[in-house]
Amino acid sequence: MTECWEADCEREAAVELHIPWDANRKVCTGHARVWAQKDGVVAEPLDDYGEEWR
Ligand SMILES: [Zn+2]
Repeated sequence: MTECWEADCEREAAVELHIPWDANRKVCTGHARVWAQKDGVVAEPLDDYGEEWR
């Protein structure tokens, strides 16, 4: 599995973030929701987890 990119988080990454000012990152759904609030960030579900992403 791929772990969430966030340092203190050990959950499985479920979403890839496309960040205009930085490299793409893979994070868990909880962190993806936080990131999705930022301007320009696009959260794309990883294929295997598409149905868990709401
Ligand atoms: Zn996380």
